[in-house]
Amino acid sequence: MTDTLPAWAGTRSWTDEDTGGDTSGDTGGLLVCKQVHALTPDVRTFVLQPPQPRLFHHDPGQFLTLTVDIDGRSVERCYTISSPPTRPHSVAITVKRVPGGLVSNWLHDRLRPGHTVRARGPLGEFTLARHPAPKYLFLSGGSGATPVMSMTRALYDLAHPADVVFVHSARTPADILFRRELDLIAATAPTVRVVHVCEEDGPTEPWGGHRGRLTLDMLRQIAPDFRQREIFTCGPTGYMAAVRDLLATAGFAMDRYHEESFTFDAPPAAEAVAGTAPGSGDTAEGHVFTVEFARSRRTLTCDADTSLLAAAARAGLSLPASCAQGMCGTCKTTLLAGSVDMRHNGGIRPREIAQNKILLCCSRPRENLVVDA
Ligand SMILES: Cc1cc2nc3c(=O)[nH]c(=O)nc-3n(C[C@H](O)[C@H](O)[C@H](O)COP(=O)(O)OP(=O)(O)OC[C@H]3O[C@@H](n4cnc5c(N)ncnc54)[C@H](O)[C@@H]3O)c2cc1C
Repeated sequence: MTDTLPAWAGTRSWTDEDTGGDTSGDTGGLLVCKQVHALTPDVRTFVLQPPQPRLFHHDPGQFLTLTVDIDGRSVERCYTISSPPTRPHSVAITVKRVPGGLVSNWLHDRLRPGHTVRARGPLGEFTLARHPAPKYLFLSGGSGATPVMSMTRALYDLAHPADVVFVHSARTPADILFRRELDLIAATAPTVRVVHVCEEDGPTEPWGGHRGRLTLDMLRQIAPDFRQREIFTCGPTGYMAAVRDLLATAGFAMDRYHEESFTFDAPPAAEAVAGTAPGSGDTAEGHVFTVEFARSRRTLTCDADTSLLAAAARAGLSLPASCAQGMCGTCKTTLLAGSVDMRHNGGIRPREIAQNKILLCCSRPRENLVVDA
């Protein structure tokens, strides 16, 4: 039997409360950094709180969209809430420093206790609150541990009877995230088992556990009953593809598989975009329009069924993007000319739409366009 989880879902976030339910207000979503913890050489946790004490409501696994001002530009990125909803007085995000990355480096180098950031959310559907089950298998690679850590912390705090196997893959033992806390959870909760998989020895610690990349044989050893579990996976694109492959090989019922990607990957090339000459007009595929990316100094073609982000990616134009589902706001930009069909999922505010802002990931052209990207 599955124990009911608390009704986190649908409760109002403090960002709602802050603006009386109107998340479009610029004053909404201010968070003060209270503490910074170094977890590994390139991962830090930032503990954030509203300026006035308020309780934060979210489902474990959901994320926030942070807005930071860097060199006069407002930039948005998503970060999972790594803290659980059972500790509602603050929220924590756990951020890996990405080489060359704008926001992750800014957070590591600049965000200190007392500084503020703006945040929107919580957002996202990657949460066990939507999939109650008696047994879970959490598979994570690198910073993908954050959502499953929030879920594990929540179940632990509730002394929930769900059986959890938490499998985390890291490059070396020094890169294992939340290691001491997971050890403590596994040592004190009879329902939680934690297994780490490392590719190599650490600088000071030889690795004696599971070594290499996660394989089906390894998974069978770690969780022989994995077919009976609800699986949540988060990690680098290649890691998640490998997990999907090995589960498919094992004949796992994929309706009980859930994953979250931290990166946007271009969909496979489409004839309509790759093979059409610039200019608008009818094609066998439908209407094709020109899209000028003004700041990138590139003009591409895009048909009425393709998102601007997908068209850019297929043409080799790399633009900031994350969820690709109109939720996170990372790909927000200004439409300088033309009009689009935008079907977003809350990643843009009404007042921003009124200011000609669009999300590239969920906007399709209705005529020739110029965008500020
Ligand atoms: C739902 C969700 C939850 C997430 N949760 C977390 C989390 O808990 N922890 C976490 O660490 N991350 C998380 N992320 C990822 C996070 O949102 C950022 O994508 C990540 O921090 C990198 O952002 P950045 O600004 O540092 O890098 P970016 O500036 O976006 O750059 C990313 C990469 O692209 C390269 N790049 C940038 N611009 C170009 C260009 N013009 N041409 C070629 N290459 C370029 C950079 O060198 C870098 O390697 C999450 C993402 C999503 C969608």
